[in-house]
Amino acid sequence: MVFTSHMAQALDEAQAAAQRGEVPVGAVLVAPDGRVLAAAGNRTRELSDPTAHAEILAIRAACALTGSERLPGHKLWVTLEPCPMCAAAISAARIDTIYYGAEDVRMGGVRHGARVFSHPQCHHRPQVFDGIDAAASRRLLQSFFNDRR
Ligand SMILES: [Zn+2]
Repeated sequence: MVFTSHMAQALDEAQAAAQRGEVPVGAVLVAPDGRVLAAAGNRTRELSDPTAHAEILAIRAACALTGSERLPGHKLWVTLEPCPMCAAAISAARIDTIYYGAEDVRMGGVRHGARVFSHPQCHHRPQVFDGIDAAASRRLLQSFFNDRR
């Protein structure tokens, strides 16, 4: 199978989130056959829901589409290192591989903080590829937070 990056689409979702006044993070969920099942950006403010992170929304949409609470063989692209909540959801959904962009020293839960996938209680560890288009992701976040000051 040809390898296709879905980070550009995830960055588009992040950009759209910024335009809605949300922290610019975007995620794309890809089926084992390469089809994009779901794409989402943060909507915590719009939905008044602290769990409405891009990853959670993409996982919910993909699970609803497939009629399953598990997504084996699926891949998740996300512009920022997932937080502990999203990392736990990724593990619970049995997602195969995650690709993320910028690291998140403050809120991340994969390489930083709780390191959810390295914890002994973690029963499903996805493959993790980080640093993909990280500069573009960081730029979106920086300009978003600069504009708010
Ligand atoms: Zn999260």
